[in-house]
Amino acid sequence: MKDNFNRDIDYLRISVIDRCNLRCIYCMPEEGISNLLPHHEILTYEEILKIIEIGIDLGIKKIRITGGEPLLRKGIVSFIEKLAGIEQIRDIGITTNGVLLKKFAKDLYNAGLKRVNVSLDSLDADKFKAITRIGSIYEVLDGIEEAYRVGLQPVKINVVVMKGINDDEIEKFALWSKDVEYQIRFIEFMPIGPNAWKKELFLSKDEIKAKIENKVGNLITVQMKKAGPAEYFMLEGAKGLLGFISPITTHICVRCNRLRLTAEGKLRPCLFSDKEVDLKQLLRSGASEEEIKALIIKTIHLKPQSLSERAKPLRPMSTIGG
Ligand code: SAM
Ligand code: SF4
Repeated sequence: MKDNFNRDIDYLRISVIDRCNLRCIYCMPEEGISNLLPHHEILTYEEILKIIEIGIDLGIKKIRITGGEPLLRKGIVSFIEKLAGIEQIRDIGITTNGVLLKKFAKDLYNAGLKRVNVSLDSLDADKFKAITRIGSIYEVLDGIEEAYRVGLQPVKINVVVMKGINDDEIEKFALWSKDVEYQIRFIEFMPIGPNAWKKELFLSKDEIKAKIENKVGNLITVQMKKAGPAEYFMLEGAKGLLGFISPITTHICVRCNRLRLTAEGKLRPCLFSDKEVDLKQLLRSGASEEEIKALIIKTIHLKPQSLSERAKPLRPMSTIGG
């Protein structure tokens, strides 16, 4: 359905869990999130499926499963299988930190998942550990290779760029795209969550692109049918693509087509706003489908037009479902 600014809202991003097996410096405190949801507060798969069913009536066609770390949730493969069986859903994606991907890639593929996004902010083992605090890069690289090997296509690699932390690896990531058929996407660091973001850490898309063009080579524009908020390029002769997602310096709001559902059943109209509506309470109070539909419609109408109306969200990304 259309929102108040004539944008077609057809994409639902669903956080299925608030827990994570990493502690990325920009997303979680070192000790983890103190107020984790008790299990009964997390939407069951049946509840999520019900919301999706109602969403489909309103035009939802694309689903992304995220978290926290979605591969930590028990039963994730059979949940994906159920989603893949819904005819009206044209596209299902998952965003994972890749730690458990080697174990799950084949089962996810067999369950009907077509593609995967993996977060990887460094290609250096020590730096990867420093950014994630507890992660092993080798597990993630093995997971990425396995995803590609079993046929998940495309494999997208998400790199959040932070000045003085991993911006010295931009060239290395760009060169990697020559050898691998992945879509490596540089993402502007967003001021989300309680504390980690600082202006000094921010690097814009233009600065990232300039580093690549100055040190690695020309970026050739690649037109993609379904690029979402990303712009794509490639280096001459490269197997893979380079993408740029610039929520801070580009007006991506004009093309925003999404809603977000948090693990505890709050529906959020915008990543950059703390507005949310409680779908779980309504679901569990025995509300009718029409009442639930009306609340989803109300949330769609809460979508702000653009950046100027955005506020810095207080929830960390792990609880919003990035
Ligand atoms: N745990 C999974 C993962 O890391 O891919 C899924 C959830 S994570 C919150 C989703 C994505 O949000 C990751 O790619 C992560 O790098 C990104 N992210 C988290 N905080 C961010 C921030 N402040 N700015 C930009 N991206 C962020
Ligand atoms: Fe976990 Fe993903 Fe947040 Fe890192 S970005 S702490 S992997 S939820």
